[in-house]
Amino acid sequence: MIQTLTPFEGWTEAPQSDELRLIPIGGLGEFGMNALVVHGPKGLVLVDCGQLFPSEDQPGIDKIVPDFAYVEAFADQVQAVLLTHGHEDHIGALPHFLRRWPVPVYGTAFTLALVAGKLKEAGIKEDLLHVIHDYDRVTLEGMGIEAEWIPVTHSLPDACALVMHTAQGPIIHSGDFKIDPNPVDGRLMGLKRLKELGDQGVRLLMADSTNILQAGRTPSEALCKAGLDDAFRKTEGALFMATFSSNVHRIQVLLDLAYEHGRQVVLLGRSMEKVVNLARGLGRLKLPDDFIIEPKHAPNNKRSELLILCTGSQGEPMSALMRVLRGEIKGLTMKEGDRLVLSSRAIPGNEVGISRMLDAAARLGADTTLDGIGTIHVSGHAYRGDLEELIQTVRPKHMVPVHGTYRNLKAHGQLAASLGYKPQAISLLDGGQCLRLFKGGKVKMAGTVPVGRDYVHEGVDHMVDARIVQDRLILQEDGVVFATLMVDPDTRERVGEPAILTRGFVVLSDDEAYGALLRGAVAKAYDEAPLEVRNDDTLLYELLRQALRRIIRKTTDTRPLVVSMVLEAPKE
Ligand SMILES: [Zn+2]
Ligand SMILES: [Zn+2]
Repeated sequence: MIQTLTPFEGWTEAPQSDELRLIPIGGLGEFGMNALVVHGPKGLVLVDCGQLFPSEDQPGIDKIVPDFAYVEAFADQVQAVLLTHGHEDHIGALPHFLRRWPVPVYGTAFTLALVAGKLKEAGIKEDLLHVIHDYDRVTLEGMGIEAEWIPVTHSLPDACALVMHTAQGPIIHSGDFKIDPNPVDGRLMGLKRLKELGDQGVRLLMADSTNILQAGRTPSEALCKAGLDDAFRKTEGALFMATFSSNVHRIQVLLDLAYEHGRQVVLLGRSMEKVVNLARGLGRLKLPDDFIIEPKHAPNNKRSELLILCTGSQGEPMSALMRVLRGEIKGLTMKEGDRLVLSSRAIPGNEVGISRMLDAAARLGADTTLDGIGTIHVSGHAYRGDLEELIQTVRPKHMVPVHGTYRNLKAHGQLAASLGYKPQAISLLDGGQCLRLFKGGKVKMAGTVPVGRDYVHEGVDHMVDARIVQDRLILQEDGVVFATLMVDPDTRERVGEPAILTRGFVVLSDDEAYGALLRGAVAKAYDEAPLEVRNDDTLLYELLRQALRRIIRKTTDTRPLVVSMVLEAPKE
């Protein structure tokens, strides 16, 4: 169970006739951006195609998607994309992939309804989408495999595990799941079918490691209903509930409670309205007709007859909830007697924004405490007990933990070991690491293929280079210093003093003494440069940049972005 990261020499050669390659190009060693390449001698499919949300150290980036370098090397072999479910970390990068490879996409109805919205925005034809139903099987001719979708319980409708019936035996990918014996929509996990497959013999299981570090069983959504009911009973004024718009099961629970407690519902946030309409249209969400009211009609209701269901649980500054707190939404205010409940988990990194938001709500008089209120959120991912049940149901020959940081994958491997799996039957893969399965049972860790992350800025149709993100971080930290130097076009002699301009730098541009110091350093570097450097723009710019960086670091201990320019003086 030791992880080695060596390059896979010869990865550009197609798989052998008895070989199947499994290559996670995202989602392993990290959370998010889930994408798995399944590559046989005749073709290649992608299982999920997710995005990663940028963090604060990626300023100005809208999303991060996998680098498809491996797929590019076999560009003419791409057959299809198979989707497990509709969360952004599984579908977010699809527009980028489909623009390059317009191949059929298979998934369940709710998953594809979410994808369709994305494709529409990206101007990609929706006829690539093929809706499948629970337990459907699809033959991928070009690939020589059959795919089968098995329902699993998760935090949104229509989530599935995927079985690929291959020449190397059945391979099962759990997708994101937990085992909820009492799901809100009554759609049970297909454990019976998984056991049947286990009886026949499963070659390999890839399972969700997100919550492996949690002992016991994942609590059912039913537990959450009791806690949320407390919040309804203990609130005299309007009740504000923030959750993820994709968490349709939670939304159903909240709508049911609102109905029972005689509160009408205001939906806030574009994605909340969109998902509620989609889910309702597909029969995945059930609510009475005159139950949802417009925000502007909220003042017609008593405060105690209002549930405001909104996005913004992560404290996002532009969310509808923040706009209510800033008094920007007509008809909707937060006041004394109201309550704000965040029915979701805090994504690591968002804690500061969330705390700022709760503080703003408290200032308006709302109750943000949870005293006397039970569980208001349960996870959609399997705890260790559920993962153990999955392994024992499927009894695969080989185990590959997926979805999670290395620590999670390792703990998941340890669980398999505790159930009697030998080290050679457990593979801990990192992003880009290729597992080769051969007919007859041989398994080989082949090393890594090129992988990485691509930065997307919506509205620009090419990727944002990583160096641009790096420059932005430097600008944010230490600002920028420009130096311009004028030279004689014939003799290359310096004409006058260099000019220095700064923005965001620790010393202002108009500081005369410091400006003179920098001008002197640039002039000296130029005057001492040999003629061949003066005649080569690239060498010259670098020389001046280095001279400036040195003096700035010595005098201020900062490392701003330094830009130097040499201009030829106009002839008299
Ligand atoms: Zn996920
Ligand atoms: Zn998910």
